[in-house]
Amino acid sequence: KKITIAIDGFSSTGKSTLAKQLARYLGYVYVDTGAMYRAVTLYAMQIGLIDNDFFNREGLIEHLDDVTLQFLYNPVLEFAEMYLNEVNVEKEIRTLAVSQLVSRVAEVPQVRHKLVEQQKHMGEAKGVVMDGRDIGTVVFPNAELKIFMNASPETRAQRRFKELTGLGQVVTYDEVYKNVVERDYMDTHREDSPLVKADDAIEMDNSNITKQEQLQKVIDIVNK
Ligand code: C5P
Repeated sequence: KKITIAIDGFSSTGKSTLAKQLARYLGYVYVDTGAMYRAVTLYAMQIGLIDNDFFNREGLIEHLDDVTLQFLYNPVLEFAEMYLNEVNVEKEIRTLAVSQLVSRVAEVPQVRHKLVEQQKHMGEAKGVVMDGRDIGTVVFPNAELKIFMNASPETRAQRRFKELTGLGQVVTYDEVYKNVVERDYMDTHREDSPLVKADDAIEMDNSNITKQEQLQKVIDIVNK
């Protein structure tokens, strides 16, 4: 039987790594909902609705119908890439510039509504592993398996820093650490669907275990 698996948690806790491996192992669809919030943020940046000290929320709400998001599978990378209005934005959405603004865009209820509606219809019947902040609480409250991931802010910042420098971006560890802590704060304090652990989610802290051990733990739970 195909089930729905919801993976939520703080940023850079390794949600996407686990979700991707799990989806591959089970032959399910993997959906990275953070990519969708990032793409809407990139759109707002491109048309000049947001920067570090300015955000035209109403403008973004008015333009939401002009935003088309799609995941298209790239067979070479074996991964679905994010397209914003038919343009591949997989690289642009991963920059620190987008990370620094995304939590403000994700706070807008109209943005959340639009993306949640889309997410509810993704991977239907095919089996889905979806990662984000509100998957077990809002998108799939009836998911058969819910996992809530955590790790220390230092571990997470260290991982993110490696990831970003690996992509060739020029960032400092301090900047990345600050961004991780700020997003934690904003994601847990926003009014509309704040980041909280669903009551029935299994909590996992992966500060001190390897990716392989973590995947095995979850596979054991799925097979039970
Ligand atoms: O998962 P990722 O770090 O790429 O998500 C980027 C941001 O998008 C998060 O910090 C959060 O503000 C927002 N987000 C959200 N709800 C989701 C997924 C992401 O609010 N389901």
